[in-house]
Amino acid sequence: MSRDAGTIDEVAAKSNTPAIVTVGDQLYWAYANLAMAHAAVEKGTSRYGALHYMIRSRLYNGLKSGSMQIGRLAQDERLKMILPQACCYCASTTCLAADHLIPRKRGGADTGDNLVWACRSCNSSKGACDALEWLAKQNRFPPLLLLRRYLKLAIEFSSANDLMNVPLTEAPELPFVLTAIPILFPPPADMRLWVGSLLESA
Ligand SMILES: [Zn+2]
Repeated sequence: MSRDAGTIDEVAAKSNTPAIVTVGDQLYWAYANLAMAHAAVEKGTSRYGALHYMIRSRLYNGLKSGSMQIGRLAQDERLKMILPQACCYCASTTCLAADHLIPRKRGGADTGDNLVWACRSCNSSKGACDALEWLAKQNRFPPLLLLRRYLKLAIEFSSANDLMNVPLTEAPELPFVLTAIPILFPPPADMRLWVGSLLESA
C-alpha cells in the first residue's frame, strides 16, 4: 500500500480509457474527464474514487449515445459575470484586454463565448500559440473552468461542421489543437477550478 495516490489514479485512468478513434471520442472523453475532475476538485477530494469514475463513464457513454448533452455555454457566461475581472492565465488585474481563447486567425468564433480576459504580459508571451499548447509548454494544467470553455467551443465547432465522427487521423486543420486537449488528468489535488484564489467554488 505504499504506492502514492497519483500513480494509482493514473493507472486507473489509463485502464478505463475507451478506444479514442474519432474527433468526437477525443472531445467527449476529455469532457467526461473534466466533469470527473470538477466533481473531485469542487469537493476538495485529494484522489479519485469509484464515484468519480462512474461520473466519467456515464457522461462519456451518454454523450456518445446522444442521451446526454454538454453544459450550455450560457452557464459559463453567467460565471464570467460573477468572476472578478482578471487575467484567466495568471489572475493579474492590470493591463487587461479581451483575448480570443481560440484564436480568430485559426477560425475561432468572434463571439462573447470565445472571449476571455488576458493581461498584456500573458498575451504577448502566448503570441500566436494556442492557449492549451502555451500552458502545456510551461508544464501548467489549465484551470478546469477555462478548459471547460475551450472544450465546449471545440465541441460546438466540431458538431456544427460534421466533424465528430471523423477519424482523428483524417481530421482537417482545426481552430483548436486536438493534441493539446488532455486525455489524462492529474490527481485532483494538483488542479484548480480557476486561477488564483478568485473563485472558491463554481
Ligand atoms: Zn496574465
